[in-house]
Amino acid sequence: MRRMTVLAAAAIAVAVGAFSFTLGRAFTVRGPVATTMPAKLAESELATGTIASRPIPSAQTQAPSTPPVAFSPPTSPVAFPTSGRADVVATPSLACGNADALGVSRVVEIDTADGPGFGFEQFKAYDFLREHEVVLTFDDGPWPGNTSAVLKALADQCTKALFFPIGKHAMWHPEILKQVAAAGHAVGSHTWSHADLSKLTIDQAKEEFEKGASAVHAALGGPEASFFRFPGLQQPPEVVAYLGTRNIGIFSTDIDSFDFRMHKPEQVIASVMGKLKKRGKGIILMHDFQHPTSLALPELLAQLKASGFKIVQVRGKDPVKTLPEFDQAIMKEFGGNTVSTLPTSSIVRTVGE
Ligand SMILES: [Zn+2]
Repeated sequence: MRRMTVLAAAAIAVAVGAFSFTLGRAFTVRGPVATTMPAKLAESELATGTIASRPIPSAQTQAPSTPPVAFSPPTSPVAFPTSGRADVVATPSLACGNADALGVSRVVEIDTADGPGFGFEQFKAYDFLREHEVVLTFDDGPWPGNTSAVLKALADQCTKALFFPIGKHAMWHPEILKQVAAAGHAVGSHTWSHADLSKLTIDQAKEEFEKGASAVHAALGGPEASFFRFPGLQQPPEVVAYLGTRNIGIFSTDIDSFDFRMHKPEQVIASVMGKLKKRGKGIILMHDFQHPTSLALPELLAQLKASGFKIVQVRGKDPVKTLPEFDQAIMKEFGGNTVSTLPTSSIVRTVGE
């Protein structure tokens, strides 16, 4: 079905060193939403919705050969950058111990009012990247071992990425998701159970989105960025329109690594670098859930640097406003399965000796 979708308003504030400018606010009518589904349709990368209970990570999803990463758990709910104006600019952090790091070349802030879409595979309206600029995105986490290895690789290169965690995974591993946010990466959402929304009713699809957003919020103990990626990039126009009413920015992709089909890190590197060199820039879709990707990342980042690519860090202007009924629904569904991170002193007190 072909349908025009009215989406507007993306103000992107751009910072480059000492000068800045705003690409502009709003525009017009965007559309039509792509009616040809990507090749990925036939092969789903993950079907968490079919998992009845929390899976035990297998050896394949365990940490790679890199040593355990020492993270300092956040001491308070993670605070996301939420500047009050669309044109507030941010300067890339210079605090990095690696002088040769890939780093962050500029930071963009996206106003997601009315639900703009990004990534030329499905959206053509907003092209905010310059030649040789890339945005790193990681889906389907958080996952033991793999996500931590991805975080370490990013930290070693002093660079930032955008994560799209699955709601159930976030509830299973909130401590890992907190580490993602604490490291300064943007965290959006990717549905509750990674369902293919093109196969659901609109009400079911809304619930998948809302519970996913509520789960990430609960896992973080604070608001997440108002960014969303459709599982398998399957985006029914009705759901795209709904996300517009929720002021959610939709991220498709420019460069799909298809890393979920790969078994060796070399394949992931070759896939990304090959497509990137042809296209010259783009939003790269990878999966921190995937073990080969976690192994590939140190070398991939090194090759990006060596090839002259620059990393753009993406932030959301305003966080998601989750809906109370779904906040309650996920807590009810997960009642007793989540581990409290409150300090002992706030839970247990001596009332008599
Ligand atoms: Zn996914």
